Amino acid sequence: TEKFAGKTALVTGGGSGIGKAVATALAAEGASVVINDLKIEVAQSVADEITSAGGTAVAIAGDVSNPDDVQAAVQKAVDTYGGLHLAFNNAGIGGPQGPVADIDIAGYRALMGVNLDSVFYGLHFQVPAILAAGGGAIVNTSSILGVVGDANALPYVAAKHGVAGMTKAAAISYADKGIRINSVHPGYIDTPLLQGLPEEAYNGLVAKHPIGRLGASEEVAKVVLFLLSDDASFVTGSQYLVDGGYTAQ
Ligand code: NAD
Repeated sequence: TEKFAGKTALVTGGGSGIGKAVATALAAEGASVVINDLKIEVAQSVADEITSAGGTAVAIAGDVSNPDDVQAAVQKAVDTYGGLHLAFNNAGIGGPQGPVADIDIAGYRALMGVNLDSVFYGLHFQVPAILAAGGGAIVNTSSILGVVGDANALPYVAAKHGVAGMTKAAAISYADKGIRINSVHPGYIDTPLLQGLPEEAYNGLVAKHPIGRLGASEEVAKVVLFLLSDDASFVTGSQYLVDGGYTAQ
């Protein structure tokens, strides 16, 4: 039987990578999926793939650093499928690199908008919709850099630690009201982006993972689906590492 039959899910940044893997897996398990992405063409192509495979999905363009766009994505779920039960706040970008004194302030603010403010907007608009639908679950994408630091990625580290903090605070607020909220913390995941790295840099990333390789988006999706499912009925406010041992060292 399908684990998410009758459920509606919103996935942000669902046009690529981890978001695409989660949207596809949720649809395969019976969920109706709203796919947000900054790039409508990639969101639409994921929705089309899901629909061709017999699933149910719709795409919506939106910038998660804009609260109106995040609200519109939640409203799309309500208007199209009658409510919202599940959300994966996942859209994110790499940040400006370098020691803090060299990072320009506009780059810092832009990164915080996409990687941290977005999760606040997500929670702010999703929680009332999920309560109205009788309860559900939310997963926010943090990172290994939401658990440990990186000298060259201060804004990203700050945003991803912030995601973990928002997750905990919101989880406590709604734990006894029928919404579970958790964060997922991927190690380096083998996306097309990383495959474009010079071989030396790619191998350097591999070497940081005791498991001896980078992760796949589908391996993150399996943990996210667990957290969104009733199998995780006693799991809230948790930080789930999916990192091949990166942070165990
Ligand atoms: P990706 O680039 O493959 O996919 C991200 C998607 O988000 C893209 O389709 C992009 O168009 C979309 N997006 C970007 N900015 C947006 C915005 N402002 N509004 C809406 N959509 C936007 O990346 P990914 O690797 O799948 O990353 C997904 C999440 O996982 C991010 O939050 C990232 O920080 C996190 N993460 C990734 C890795 C990794 O190694 N790939 C590791 C840890 C955490």
